[in-house]
Amino acid sequence: MIGGSTFVSEFKEVRKEIENLLEPHGLSWESFFPYWGNFYYLGSKGNIKSDEEMFLQEMPQIKFKLNKNLDKRVANNFLFLKGGGIDFGKGIIKDHPKLGSLRNIKQREKRKKLISNYIDSFYQIHRPQLQNIAQKFNREWRKKEKEFFNSIAKIFKNYPWPKGKYIGYLSIFNCNPRNLKDKTFQIYYKHPAGVVYVTAHELLHFIFYDYSEKKFKKDFKKISEGKLWKISEVFNSVLFSFKPSSKFAPSKVEKFDYPAFKKEIKKAKRIWKTSKDVDKLISTLLEIC
Ligand SMILES: [Zn+2]
Repeated sequence: MIGGSTFVSEFKEVRKEIENLLEPHGLSWESFFPYWGNFYYLGSKGNIKSDEEMFLQEMPQIKFKLNKNLDKRVANNFLFLKGGGIDFGKGIIKDHPKLGSLRNIKQREKRKKLISNYIDSFYQIHRPQLQNIAQKFNREWRKKEKEFFNSIAKIFKNYPWPKGKYIGYLSIFNCNPRNLKDKTFQIYYKHPAGVVYVTAHELLHFIFYDYSEKKFKKDFKKISEGKLWKISEVFNSVLFSFKPSSKFAPSKVEKFDYPAFKKEIKKAKRIWKTSKDVDKLISTLLEIC
């Protein structure tokens, strides 16, 4: 067996490497963790004294930035999109009435060009304001991040965070899509639920997908992308209505649930209430969604 300190110095994705080594032997990170933790403490030569400190060392650092080109892509895609009982195009137009008339332009390239021009001028006028908000988001999230990552470590049984960029891009549209692959997401600059909730929500998606794809490999291979998305949203709605995750959500968080998934959310909440077990919740969602 290799000592913890060797792992720390040799590998970037320490826990992933360990998982890969343990898997052929029918062992898991969970069963190995207590041993690994002890090695880690020894290797740190007294700098790390608890599991909590160890996890905080490995928590992702989320940054908030502007990304005008991403907003252009989102405008073009979401102007015509409906999903989960939400009309995204309608939301965009409510905020930016001028895009309402541009949506009706039939020629795709012409429409794209005019949307691009509109976004350019919006950013030209509002850039200082958007930059201030990005800084404010950075400050607000910093205050909550430790508490959040600690609560997630408990819920996900010390499962490691997947690697990625972890950037929250400010958006002038209230669509808030994410990129699961590179771990980036958009956050509406005037989001009524606030930066802490939106960020916590997206981070929960990132760890949920990574965890489920590993632990429920067979089931997740079989289901459609749409069903997977539904499961992930119902999962979030459930977790954010109970402690400790509810601490990071606004008081009436149900307002942000997808209207089309109400029935499944209600059922899943009952399961979570009694079991508080993430695996049990995911298996239930696979059945009812
Ligand atoms: Zn979501």
